[in-house]
Amino acid sequence: MHPNDPSLKSFVEVAADSHFPIQNLPFGVFSTDAEPAPRIGVAIGDQILDLAVLEKVSLLAAPAGSRVFNQPSLNAFIALGQDVWRETRASISELLRHDSPRLRDDQDLRARALVPMAEATLHLPVEIGGYTDFYSSKEHATNVGMMFRDPKNALLPNWLHLPVGYNGRASSVVVSGTPVRRPNGQTKAPNAESPSFGPSAKLDIELETAFIVGEGNALGEPIPVAEADRHIFGMVLMNDWSARDIQQWEYVPLGPFNSKGFATSISPWVVTMDALEPFRVEGPAQNPEPLPYLRQEGKTSVDLHLEVTLKPEGTAEATTICRTNFRHMYWSMAQQLAHHTGSGCNTRVGDLMGSGTISGPEPDSFGSLLELTWNGQRPLTLTGGGERSFLEDGDEVVITGWCQGEGYRVGFGAVTGRITPALK
Ligand code: MN
Repeated sequence: MHPNDPSLKSFVEVAADSHFPIQNLPFGVFSTDAEPAPRIGVAIGDQILDLAVLEKVSLLAAPAGSRVFNQPSLNAFIALGQDVWRETRASISELLRHDSPRLRDDQDLRARALVPMAEATLHLPVEIGGYTDFYSSKEHATNVGMMFRDPKNALLPNWLHLPVGYNGRASSVVVSGTPVRRPNGQTKAPNAESPSFGPSAKLDIELETAFIVGEGNALGEPIPVAEADRHIFGMVLMNDWSARDIQQWEYVPLGPFNSKGFATSISPWVVTMDALEPFRVEGPAQNPEPLPYLRQEGKTSVDLHLEVTLKPEGTAEATTICRTNFRHMYWSMAQQLAHHTGSGCNTRVGDLMGSGTISGPEPDSFGSLLELTWNGQRPLTLTGGGERSFLEDGDEVVITGWCQGEGYRVGFGAVTGRITPALK
């Protein structure tokens, strides 16, 4: 049976609202107190299947002589190519099926190969050589343009012709759960005479997804848009923390710098493009028609539901501040990759490509506090009382996302982060 078959069931118990049924099988890197060396696993229900254990007993076939699953990142596995990703996912699906006795009935192997997720530490899944962030939500770009430039000409003239992006900072990409320190930086209020240095007063989130490059391209050799999808290994959730006051002062003319470079959080499980295939949908109509190197048809997007919650320190209840969907994104991942490499720029296995803030058409579907509160003019009311314009110290932000199948979810888990005070 195909690993995406909705009728598949695992002998590992999986709750109906779990993000990790047998139809998903996302890859990640984890460690445990008992075995502190980070290694590769696959999420199934509330368990992790330890692929290093399966590889050691030859239940997973790696190319002769090499071990790829006892490593602290997915890069070596991803570098083996799409055929190996698919064979591996199919083998794991077969091993985990309810009617497959090989692992199910081997109590000793099960005890070694299945680790409760609650007892594991999750690490960054890939070694990220390069991180690029796009700006591909038309609603987000329009909202920002209305606030900071001209409401009548909110989109800049290039926006409908190319997926705008910038080269971000790979060194500060952190895994979900890593505390995020409020950055200090240089700001200048519009009416201030001169700039000053201190803690950002407008610390914000950006609800994003990101894709991970699975097959790179050589310098000077662009990836054609029609081939771009097979260069993508999978996707994660991403929170592109942003200091709006620093950003507004620094970003002209070369774009954001310290306002973004202090931290970017990603979710620990990489959901493969293969697992997302049943949830592919067409993206928004593109008008004007893109230039030939960006022209694409068919199901270029993913029906991926996204939510953001905010919980102040010491409160019991989180407030859902945004509900939206990835399918609103104007530029597709394939178009982003084709544009990025169109100049001849090379990409490498493990490179991270952020979608850009994902905002939908409704006011409660905006993917940043900047938009949700309209730059602080309309503070949000929180469930347990209190208001928010931008993030305060101790606030915890959780982004989650899933594709809804019939009776099951192919999900991403969550990317979380809590704000700690700025350095004095
Ligand atoms: Mn961003």
